[in-house]
Amino acid sequence: MAYDRNNIFARILRGEIPSKKVYEDAHALAFHDIAPQAPIHVLVIPKGEYVSWDDFSARAGEAEIAGFVRAVGTVARQLGIAEKGYRLLANHGADGGQEVPHLHVHLFGGRRLGRMVAKAGE
Ligand code: 5GP
Repeated sequence: MAYDRNNIFARILRGEIPSKKVYEDAHALAFHDIAPQAPIHVLVIPKGEYVSWDDFSARAGEAEIAGFVRAVGTVARQLGIAEKGYRLLANHGADGGQEVPHLHVHLFGGRRLGRMVAKAGE
């Protein structure tokens, strides 16, 4: 799948659409999800043009991967949820339910998060 430069997160990265930013560095941007599903629901995205986890893990350079992974951990600590716990989720493709075609890791926290995966049909 080719990267779409007009996807909503590309536009957030370019500052064309506002977001509630919680963190930014050379490799990553983190902002609150517009429709939170937990008391804390933050999206962390790489600054590079990657459609999904599949694309990122295949094409990104070592520095980009290390920078992004470190940013996710930093954001969780900065949000104060590292001690009590949190969940990371990255949807890829149709079965994963990915809606926005720019890699994003969901960071959920602030309550007990329940089961990991919805039952069939949910
Ligand atoms: P996906 O299903 O692709 O893993 O998740 C996409 C997420 O992006 C959803 O949780 C959705 O609420 C969030 N989202 C979609 N559009 C926007 C937006 O314009 N701003 C923000 N902050 N989040 C968005």
